Amino acid sequence: MKLLVTGGAGFIGSNLVRHLLNTHEDVEIVNLDALTYAGNLASLTDIEDDPRYGFVHGDICDADTVRPLMEGTDAVLHLAAESHVDRSIESDAPFVRTNVIGTYVLLAAALEAGVGRFVQVSTDEVYGELPWSDPEHPDPEPGSEAARFTEDTRLAPRSPYSATKAAGDLLALSYHTTHGMDVVVTRSSNNYGPFQHPEKLIPLMVTHAIDGSSLPVYGDGLNIRDWIHVEDHCRGIDAALRQGKAGRVYNFGGDAERTNLQVVRAILGAVGASEDLIEFVPDRKGHDRRYAIDASRAHTELGWSPQADFDAALPETVKWYVEQKGWWRAV
Ligand code: NAD
Repeated sequence: MKLLVTGGAGFIGSNLVRHLLNTHEDVEIVNLDALTYAGNLASLTDIEDDPRYGFVHGDICDADTVRPLMEGTDAVLHLAAESHVDRSIESDAPFVRTNVIGTYVLLAAALEAGVGRFVQVSTDEVYGELPWSDPEHPDPEPGSEAARFTEDTRLAPRSPYSATKAAGDLLALSYHTTHGMDVVVTRSSNNYGPFQHPEKLIPLMVTHAIDGSSLPVYGDGLNIRDWIHVEDHCRGIDAALRQGKAGRVYNFGGDAERTNLQVVRAILGAVGASEDLIEFVPDRKGHDRRYAIDASRAHTELGWSPQADFDAALPETVKWYVEQKGWWRAV
């Protein structure tokens, strides 16, 4: 199976490329990545010499780069994106460019070349936010205001990041409806694990805790995220690629709702640093209060369920950053 992975030098992309090569003998992967600040080939050194793997340094918005890569490709796994909400609040133009126009360029080229399947890797943030609900009791009544996001939840993105991801999702689904293209959309909750850029919550807090510098926590620290281990997410994308139905959306979650403050305290515990390092800072603009995922469709139709237990996997992740200081200090 010949795959074009976009954004394969990023956090999830590099884990996905490794997962696919390690799991399937018969895959050949081309990784197309522009190597923005978020892309890092040092995340792929263990597989870079695999004869089934090739890297192309290029921009998904450049049709002349993208078109030839589609020839003979069985499926596209589209992960390349501008992915950091805070950056989208400061400057949204790169988000519109990559997440909307880049997705369009890929879809048009895939359609022209007759690519077999297009997997649009997206986020639960396209659904907007849920009202706060105690993470100790994470199962509000189905249908209630506080219930988890399902694939039928109305899209209501609230940041330029999530709005541009929603636009990419809708464009991809429109190619299915209009052109009959085989498109699958996946939406996962917040990922954690090795090779994540230290601008994101967990590696940011871990690296600050290791260095003994303050840990900036937005607002009251009670915003809730569901955390999925990146390896579970990669298994989900792989399952959607192989078993997903055309035109269908699949949610992936880790069954691990935590307040940011719970996550930060757990990190400090794992590093062995003092809670005095916590510093509350002014809240992010438009900060979504809670995300929570109902992944029943992925359980039923893909036979997928998350394997990682957050309370055990978080200290493992912390250990990785402790041991890989060379990787993140160079980012
Ligand atoms: P990331 O920021 O770590 O990596 C993005 C990659 O895309 C980088 O390697 C970057 O160089 C590349 N890229 C950016 N613009 C490009 C362009 N114009 N052309 C080619 N390459 C370009 O992101 P991530 O956290 O690995 O997320 C991957 C995907 O998964 C994104 O689409 C994101 O929306 C989605 N997602 C992420 C999370 C999460 O928690 N990280 C959760 C759900 C969904």
